[in-house]
Parts: sequence; C-alpha cells; structure tokens
Amino acid sequence: MNETRLEKLRRQLDGVNQALLTMLSERAAIALEIGAEKERQGVPKYDPVREQLMLKELVAKNNGPFDDETIRHLFKQIFQASLKIQQEDHGKHLLVSRKRQERNTVVTLGEVAIGGGKPVMIAGPCSVESYEQVREVAAHLKASGITVMRGGAFKPRTSPYDFQGLGVEGLRILKEVADEFGLKTISEIVDPAHVELACEYIDVIQIGARNMQNFELLKAAGDVRKPILLKRGLAATIDELLHAAEYIVSRGNTQVMLIERGIRTYEKATRNTLDISAVPILKRESHLPVLVDVTHSTGRKDILAPCAKAALAAGADGVMVEVHPNPAIALSDAAQQLDFSEFTDFYDDVLRSGLMK
Ligand code: PEP
Ligand code: MN
Repeated sequence: MNETRLEKLRRQLDGVNQALLTMLSERAAIALEIGAEKERQGVPKYDPVREQLMLKELVAKNNGPFDDETIRHLFKQIFQASLKIQQEDHGKHLLVSRKRQERNTVVTLGEVAIGGGKPVMIAGPCSVESYEQVREVAAHLKASGITVMRGGAFKPRTSPYDFQGLGVEGLRILKEVADEFGLKTISEIVDPAHVELACEYIDVIQIGARNMQNFELLKAAGDVRKPILLKRGLAATIDELLHAAEYIVSRGNTQVMLIERGIRTYEKATRNTLDISAVPILKRESHLPVLVDVTHSTGRKDILAPCAKAALAAGADGVMVEVHPNPAIALSDAAQQLDFSEFTDFYDDVLRSGLMK
C-alpha cells in the first residue's frame, strides 16, 4: 500500500520535473531573444537592477515551504544559466570564431602560406639598428632557408630612456634588405597614424603585446588590407585576445594571425610564462593562424628549442625567434637574442624533430 503511494508520488514528481524542464527551456528561449535584442541595442547582457526586481517580486509571492533565501538562490542559478547561454550565443557569432568559419584562415605572403598546414619559422632582430645589421641577419636567414624576417622599428620600451627604434627609417631599411634577399618582413606599429604608411614598407604589421587592447590601433589595422600579427597582451585572457582580433576582422581585414608570447605570472624562471595550452585552445576556438614567440615568452636562450617544439607539437602554425649578429651589443633584448651559430643549432634541432613539415 505504502509502496504504491510512494510510486504515485514519484510519478507526480516526474510530471512536475517535466513541466519545470519545459518551462526552463521556454524561459531560456526568451532569454536568448532578449540577449539578441540587447546585442542590437548595444546594451549589456547583465542587468543587476532588473535581476534584483525579479528576485524581489518572486520572494514577495513566496508562500513556502521554501524559505526566501532558498528561492533567491534557486532563481539566481536560473538567471546565471540564462546569462551564460546569452554570452555563448554571442561568442558563436564572433567572426574570428571557428563556429562562424570552419575552415582555417590562411595568411599568404607571396609564396609563403601561414596557417595552411606547413609551419613557418619567423626570425630576425629585436630591433632594426642599422642597414648593415639587418643585411647581415637577412643574409644568414636566407642561407638557412628562412623566408620571413622580423625587426622592430618602433620599439615599445619599458623605459623612455631605452632605445626607441629607428622609426620610419627602420621600415625603409627592412624594405631595402628584404627586396635584395627576397624575404617577407614583419614589424611592429604602435601609432594608428602609421598603419597606412607601414603598408608601403612591410608585409605584416605587428601589434605588440602592450597594444593588444589599443582599440584605435586595432581599428586602423582593420581598415587596411595587409596581414596583421596580433600579440597576446601581457595579462590578456584568450577571450580578450580573440575579441581584439575581432576588432580587426570586423572592419574587413581578415588576414589576421594570433601569437602567444607569454603572460605575466608569479614565475620568475622565465621572463613570462609561455601558455602552451593557449595554442590548442586558440586553434579550437578560432580559424586564425596561431604562432608562438619563444623569445619574448621565455626570455632565455637555453630552452628555446624545446619550447618551439612544444609549440609545434601543440599545433602552432609557426614560431618566432630573435636573431642578432652580435647579441651582446644589441640595443634591445641583448640577453635573449640568438647569434647566428646559436640560431643554426636551434633551427636544426627544430627541423630534426620533423614538426616543421
Ligand atoms: C617584439 O616582438 O618586438 C615585442 C616587443 O614583443 P611583445 O610585444 O610580445 O613584448
Ligand atoms: Mn625583443
């Protein structure tokens, strides 16, 4: 008798569960519509005042047996779950998202295709210091089979008393040398006003870690039709990096590459902490090519090869490393740039791994 009553009550409970599920799904569908409307109006998804009002109304109508605190808690959970799907729905629509474009974006620099399956090794000095210095590096890189050279002309230095770069003259040097050796070039631009000008001299505009959320610079980069290498900010989350890339892509410049360059943590053994997990996450979340800067992430020469191999094994589309004819007298990052023989050893080591094919 008792068992039959229990069974009956359980059946009733199952029915209520079903009804609750139906209503929760209905509520979620409305929440998604509200999310889309807020998106159109450009207002935030989370509205704490509205949430407080809804909770107040619910508590006022609560006749038990749950106490008011429990009702508040239960509904707060429902509100949070709704907000989460509103945000996920928005993420799904980012242009840089893999959900929006399944196929990989391939960035093409003449013959060089980045993101197309064959990883690229990008090398060159931290700073462009002189014509002779860049020419020496270019000759060595060319002889090593490197096709893309980096070199900073506008240097975002921590101290205003440190070498700030040669500016436009540095870009001019890069172009002259790259033309002679048939290399493609990457250089950082820090001022939105220089973006258009830079297009005449270099093949890829780098946006540095310190400028990842310089939104005016991102917009200027989105307005030109030149590949952009966007570095992850010193303390930027993966989501923030993707949104920074969205600034560029949403203005029509789809040739964007992302580069992990280490993030600030409490660890002192390396200059920054190389977030290897960012590579497969970015590859999964986005269709943009993903590179790893082993020099600025580690800040030490002795672990460059294993870190480069780890990056490639994790799915990176390329690696960036700094090379200088005489690092001891380099005007920036003297401690971490490789000399030519160190670069040759490093590159041989990475090539031997078979991960560059
Ligand atoms: C650079 O690549 O020259 C540089 C300054 O790197 P980051 O912006 O990652 O510090
Ligand atoms: Mn550097």
